[in-house]
Amino acid sequence: MSRFFVCELCGNDDPKYIGYKNGLPYCRRCISFNGHEASDDYNVNTNINLNIKYNLTKEQERISNEILNNYKKNKNQLVYAVCGAGKTELVFKLIAFCLDKSLRVGFAIPRKDVVIELARRFQNSFQNCNVIAVYGGNTTVIEGDITCLTTHQLYRYKKYFDLLILDEIDAFPYKDNIVLNNLFKRSIKGNYVLMSATPSKRLIEEFKYNKDNIILTLYTRYHMQKIPVPRIVICPTTLLKLIYLIKKIKEYQSVNKPLLIFVPTIYLSKYLYNILKNFTKFGYFINSKSNNRNNIIDKFRNGEYKYLISTAVLERGVTLKNLQVIIFMADNNIYNESALIQISGRVGRVINYTNGEVIYLSDKKTKDMVSSIKKIDEANTHLQNLL
Ligand SMILES: [Zn+2]
Repeated sequence: MSRFFVCELCGNDDPKYIGYKNGLPYCRRCISFNGHEASDDYNVNTNINLNIKYNLTKEQERISNEILNNYKKNKNQLVYAVCGAGKTELVFKLIAFCLDKSLRVGFAIPRKDVVIELARRFQNSFQNCNVIAVYGGNTTVIEGDITCLTTHQLYRYKKYFDLLILDEIDAFPYKDNIVLNNLFKRSIKGNYVLMSATPSKRLIEEFKYNKDNIILTLYTRYHMQKIPVPRIVICPTTLLKLIYLIKKIKEYQSVNKPLLIFVPTIYLSKYLYNILKNFTKFGYFINSKSNNRNNIIDKFRNGEYKYLISTAVLERGVTLKNLQVIIFMADNNIYNESALIQISGRVGRVINYTNGEVIYLSDKKTKDMVSSIKKIDEANTHLQNLL
């Protein structure tokens, strides 16, 4: 008899996990998922005031448009983006589109602390909207314009979300959890977007099995293109760093490769330039206080400047053929993992010029330097194996 029982909540039909109470079957697999469910009565506020304070890179912009168009065609999507590549921003446009149409938006992620952080971020960007965070211990309000929730809370939403985004699909506890996987499918009314920095081979294969599904990759505009892996160069004194820099500037100039040198502060950008200009030609500096920024960037683009010292102001903007990057004082605490990955992503972006050097010039190795290199390595390995 048990084989005819399929759990309505999690899809379980395995007799091993089916119990009987008063002769009636019940599911033992999802027994811990119980509580009130979301009501259909909630009306989405369509008065959106999207406020994004940063610029998307060209590549982010392109993918963000693709995600929107695919959704309009009722496609499910998997977005594969390196950690720190600005994954979340990729779906802002789509979320705005959905809210405008009064559609229900959910953003699910396995970890509670990320849910809280995410809700705060969405509230900053969608200021008129009612953004809610739903996680164990915080389940009084479960209907909002944008619902950020842990994957555990998905059981409260049956055929509910017109758009459901699921991030960190390969993180614990979602990964390989049949119940959560089923709850995810059960809560979708429209279409979904999966996001991951390290999707497993199995996930990709399963996803590709449905020919209608679409996989998008960030940082990999041309398939199989690897992200250059940064190299750590330890120079424990300023003098040694300067000698190294001058040597590299000359080396790159001799083979006609433009060089961006990132520095942690505005002061340092000018200071460093004032020293380097005594030993090297064709350079300049740029920071958020430079009032002729476009002009400086143009000169760098057309080769008048062969090297440019920059603060984080160019972290996301410039794409140049054959660009090389050195991060001066990469151990400074402004260079966290995500900033380092973002900067490394500047290199090797133009087809046929996909090799390039990224050098972390530093007094010492930091945790962020090491983990950023690990993440890039992982992404490259995945790329090779999967796509
Ligand atoms: Zn069940």
